[in-house]
Amino acid sequence: MELKILWMYHDLMDLYGDKGNTQVLKVRGRKRGIDVTVDTCTIGEERNIADYDLFFMGGGADNEQGLIYKDLLSRREQIEEAMKSGTAFLLICGGYQLFGRYYRDQDGNTIDGLGFFDYYTESSDRDHRCIGNIALEITMDGDTFRSVGFENHGGQTKNVSSPFGKVLSGHGNTFNGGFEGYMDDQVVATYMHGPLLPKNPKIADHIIQRALKKRYGSVELKALDDTLENNARDIMLKRLGVL
Ligand code: GLN
Repeated sequence: MELKILWMYHDLMDLYGDKGNTQVLKVRGRKRGIDVTVDTCTIGEERNIADYDLFFMGGGADNEQGLIYKDLLSRREQIEEAMKSGTAFLLICGGYQLFGRYYRDQDGNTIDGLGFFDYYTESSDRDHRCIGNIALEITMDGDTFRSVGFENHGGQTKNVSSPFGKVLSGHGNTFNGGFEGYMDDQVVATYMHGPLLPKNPKIADHIIQRALKKRYGSVELKALDDTLENNARDIMLKRLGVL
């Protein structure tokens, strides 16, 4: 089996080690004998997005989002084709925001998003920036579990139809908002940097299964020894008082 990942804007959208997510997917895939490849794509480069099993985009500050958004919008049709063909999506922070209707920064400048989803993001004042460790309860593909990450965003994302998780500690989509991210059958979009997957192997495996589904249908994954990863996550859950 093979799994092809497209990492969009690897040179501009990679905050707080988002890159680590691709490394975890590679290692966890290869331990199961899956041939995982990661291609990158930045402004102006041509890729056929629907060829990929997983579309990954990390976070970026307002400046980087401003640099890439026109290029992203120019690929809207291709991204839609990929969605229709069953590609899975993992979108972090700035990437998450740009799949909604728009992003408005603190100075009131607005950039259009792809508009695939009805949520939109407007920046708060500096006193309401959402920063720090965050813990969620997530139900993903029938599996309920706790996860940890790190958030740092001024953007307040509203009108989210189906959040990724319920906030146990931290902020989420809005300041003290109670819910975090967006999820549907194909898309996981979240403010959780950290990076997300090293401390949350369950999320990593669900993402791998979603990506494999495009070509292979439902695939069972061999269990791995996640003692280290689970301990790292549990230490943070404990520190946040939610273990
Ligand atoms: N610039 C966006 C915000 O502050 C996204 C930041 C990020 O990707 N961490 O809301």
